[in-house]
Amino acid sequence: MIIAIDGPAGSGKSTVAKQVARMLGFQYLDTGAMYRSVAWYALEHQVNPDDVDALARIAQEKSIEFRAAQDDAQPSRVFIDGVDVTGEIRTPRIDKAVTPVSAIPEVRSALVLQQRAIASTHNVVMEGRDIGTVVFPNAEVKVFLTASAEERARRRAAQNRERGFGEVNESAILQDIIRRDEADSTRAASPLKPADDAHMLDTTDMSIDEVCETIAAFARDLL
Ligand code: C5P
Repeated sequence: MIIAIDGPAGSGKSTVAKQVARMLGFQYLDTGAMYRSVAWYALEHQVNPDDVDALARIAQEKSIEFRAAQDDAQPSRVFIDGVDVTGEIRTPRIDKAVTPVSAIPEVRSALVLQQRAIASTHNVVMEGRDIGTVVFPNAEVKVFLTASAEERARRRAAQNRERGFGEVNESAILQDIIRRDEADSTRAASPLKPADDAHMLDTTDMSIDEVCETIAAFARDLL
C-alpha cells in the first residue's frame, strides 16, 4: 500500500508521515531530502546552478541512500555519494538552493524513478509535493496537509530550536516558507497542488496525534 502525503513547507508532513509509518509498520520516505541532497552536492562541488545537465547528472548518477540510525529513536540518516548529509541539508542555504534544483524536469524524473523503485517492494508512507499527483497517482491513500503560513513558521522555528540551530529567526522562516510555497506552486514541472482525490486536512488546530490517527484510519479502512 502507498500512502501519499503532500503539502507545503512546514505543514507537518515529516512528523506525521514518520509517525503514521511507525503506527502501521510501513517504510517512511522523505522525498524532500532527496531534492535537498542533490542541491547540497551541487553546492559542495561548485556546480553552476544554471547548468541543468550537470544537475540532472547528479540526480541520475549519485546514489542517495537512507540508512536507519543506530538509535531507533533518531531519524534515519541521508547519504549522497556515501557522504552523510543528514544535518547539512536542513540549513537555510539548502532551503534556498533546493528551489531551482527541484524545478528541473530531468532532476525530478531521475528522483521519481528511485521513489517508485523503493515503493515497488515495500508498503510506504511517502511525503513530498507531487506524490499523489505524479509519483503515485494511484496511491491508495492520498492526503494533502495544510496549515496557515504563520502556524507553519511557528512549528518550523520550534523544530529548529530543538535541533540546536542556535538563534532562530521566526519571521525569516515565515518569509522563506512563503517564498518556497510560491515557487513550488507556480513551477511548470510537477507543481505543488492537491490531487483531485486527496483528503484535505487543515492541521492548524489539530494535534499531531489527531492528524496521524485520521490518516491511519483512512489506511486501516482499506487493509
Ligand atoms: O519537504 P522539504 O521542505 O524538505 O522539501 C524541500 C524542497 O524540495 C521543496 O521546497 C520543494 O522545492 C522540493 N520538493 C519537491 N518535490 C518533492 C519534495 C520536495 O519539489 N516531492
